[in-house]
Order: sequence, then C-alpha cells, then structure tokens
Amino acid sequence: MSVRSDFDPAAIPAPARAICEVLRADGHGAWVVGGCVRDHLLGRAVSDWDLCTSARPERVMKLFARTIPTGIAHGTVTVVLDREHFEVTTLRGDGEYSDGRRPDAVRFLDDIADDLARRDFTVNAIAYDPIAGALVDPHGGLDDLRRGVLRAVGDPAQRFGEDGLRVLRGARFTASLGFDLDPATEAAIPGALKVLRRVSPERVREEWLKALKAPSPSRAFDVMARTGILGVNIPALTAPTHDPAAWERSLRAVDACPPPATSRLAALLHTVDPRLLEGWLRTTKFSNEERATVVALRRALPLGAPGGWSDADVRRWLRGVGRAAAGPVLDVAAAVDGEAALEGLRARVDAALASEVPLSVGELAIDGNALMSALGMEPSRALGLLLASLLEQVLDDPTRNTPEALLALARASRSH
Ligand code: ATP
Ligand code: MG
Repeated sequence: MSVRSDFDPAAIPAPARAICEVLRADGHGAWVVGGCVRDHLLGRAVSDWDLCTSARPERVMKLFARTIPTGIAHGTVTVVLDREHFEVTTLRGDGEYSDGRRPDAVRFLDDIADDLARRDFTVNAIAYDPIAGALVDPHGGLDDLRRGVLRAVGDPAQRFGEDGLRVLRGARFTASLGFDLDPATEAAIPGALKVLRRVSPERVREEWLKALKAPSPSRAFDVMARTGILGVNIPALTAPTHDPAAWERSLRAVDACPPPATSRLAALLHTVDPRLLEGWLRTTKFSNEERATVVALRRALPLGAPGGWSDADVRRWLRGVGRAAAGPVLDVAAAVDGEAALEGLRARVDAALASEVPLSVGELAIDGNALMSALGMEPSRALGLLLASLLEQVLDDPTRNTPEALLALARASRSH
C-alpha cells in the first residue's frame, strides 16, 4: 500500500481552500475531512471534497453569496463557489440513536476532535487544516491507512449499535479500499445485525452497488457471509449456509465478471431462484431497469452445451436474449462456468451479430404493408402469423432475407 506520508495541500481545489480561508478569517476553524482526506492519502481520485467548520450553519450561509441549505438540521450547507459545490458541515456530535439509524438530535461543537469521534472508521476520521497545513488524526487513521486496516472509531460494538449502516459500510470498504477488517471490529458485527435490519433498502442497494464496483467485490460479500450481514440483506440467498462450495463459486464468479454492476450481481446471485431474485431486487429498491437486466441475465443461465448448437440455434438464442444483452450474458456465463464452458459461442455470436441477421419481425427485409399490398391482405392475425413464420425461415437461412425471397415464401405459404 503506497500511502502518502503527508497531505499535499495543492490537491485541494482552489475554491475549497478559499472557503476555508473565509471561515478562518471570520474566526472559525475549517478543515477538509472524511472520505476525501482518506482517498487523497491513498493516492486515489477524490470525488467530493467535504469541509467541516466550527462556524454554525447560519453563519456559513451569511459568509458566502451562494449557499444551499442542503441538510441544515444536521449542520450541512452547500457552498457554491466558482460553479463548484462543496458541502460545509458544522462540527457536531450525535445525540442518542434510538432508531438505529439517525441520531435523535445533533449538537454543534467547537472541537474538531469531538466531530472526528462520531465518525465510523479511523481512516474516515482524519481532517486536514489547509491553512495551518496540519493533519488532525486522533484515532490513528493514518497508521491504519498504511496497514490497510479498517477499524471502528472507539468501541466497535457501541458504534455499530448506534447505526446499523456502519456494518454494511465496513463490509463494503473492505472491497472498495481493499482493506482488511480489524479483528475486534469484525467480531462486533454479529451483535449489530438487529440494527442492520432497520437500514432502509435504498441504502442497502447503494452499498451493494458500491461493493460491486470494487476491483474484487468478493472481499465485501465474503465478510458479509462470515458475519451474517448477507442473511439479513438477502434472506433469499440460502447458499452460504447450505452449500459452502456453491458460495465459493459465487465469490469467484463475481470477481471474474466484468462490469457493469448488474452483470456482477447476476454472477454473484446465479444460484438464486429467478423469481426470488426478482422479488428481492424489487424490495431492495433496485431500479426497474436494473431489476429487468439482472433477472434476464439470471434466466439466461446456464447456457447448456452450446458447442452442439447449429448456426440457427445460435441465432434463435440471440433472438431470445436480445442483441444488447448477448455480451453481458456471455460475460456472466464465463464468470460462473469458465470461458471454456462457452464452447466457442462468443465468436459465433459475434459473427451472427456482424451478419446483421434480423432478430425480430420488424427487422425483416419486407414489412407488413408491403406484404398486405402484394397479397391483398388486411391487418389481421393471419398477417402476424405470416410475418412470424417468415422470421423463423430467415433464422433457419438468413440468405432468405430479401424482399423478393420473402415475398415468394409468403406466396407459397398462402397457397397451402
Ligand atoms: P465514499 O464516498 O467513498 O462512499 P465516504 O467515507 O466519503 O465514502 P460518505 O457517505 O461520503 O462516505 O461520508 C463522508 C464521511 O462521513 C465519512 O468519511 C465518515 O467520516 C462520515 N460518515 C459517513 N457515514 C457515516 C456513518 N454511517 N456513521 C459515522 N460516520 C459516517
Ligand atoms: Mg464521500
């Protein structure tokens, strides 16, 4: 792990630094904090530079010309400077957590150390003061970054008990950062599964998608299976408890599968019954498109023994899965069963796609109107059946896909 030995102030976007300067000139402390500090120190691309300050939210809104009261109750104001958006959050401590997800009340604080103490993991609890050029790292986050360890801030059982999302974030970070969970932190997860149940399905989906985008998603799902998170998140997945070997294959498949996340999810969950899978995707609030994609990929598996398929079989398979899904289906099948199990299907599918064979009635070289006027037909069920039979004949032999040949075939079938 090549962790930077110190923070490079030049990495901070100029407007973020300017915001800190304004806050400091007004007599407050101001820091960049959390994920951006972690990712910068890891040498990774930073997506959002989040700031924190001892100034109260009302004061932040007065100091800057363009602000949005994004999460004013929790102390977060978005400051717009040079057309860039920065979240500026007042230092805070959390009150009681009676719902296992959100603190009942937020207390605004003056000391950065108290704000860092409410954060989830030590590597997420580092702040940097760009004016003083100083890191604030009271929980040994930098050390844990160097060691590649994810460790809860403070007492893991207490911290996980306050907010059920934390255990899921913990599992996800093992994959997205490639870190190991500190043993004491991992040991506290099973005791927090009750609060995990209260996490909204939207947040579960979000963490799953983040895990699926990691270089090796299996790290997260392995932790989830070991600690019981998986059983809470997806009761439909019985494989880990009932068939450890099948779950091992699922973990290998999710790592072997190329993006997008929907393909990886289908690879991970290829043992789940398609109807249970569809229900789970629905209750976990995946989008309609994500759900349709994952279920279609799942239903396309297993492929069987495609080596024995005729060219017409290949074309009919392609018609069934559709042009756009063919690549992802093959990727998932190869991830699950190995490239050899495709038995050359990939090249044959590529050839069929390149040949521009029609895969639907609408793609035939003749359309319904031309057929009706040539044969004196009306729009009817018979016309629909005729077109469908023409498509079947073209799937058998694509050279038939010319207006003349199709018309001749149509006339022949009408004369029977
Ligand atoms: P990423 O953006 O890569 O998903 P992140 O750590 O930046 O990870 P955010 O949701 O952007 O995650 O949160 C920003 C910071 O807020 C975190 O780094 C952490 O310090 C704190 N934080 C976020 N969620 C929690 C939580 N559930 N409990 C405690 N602290 C949290
Ligand atoms: Mg973030």
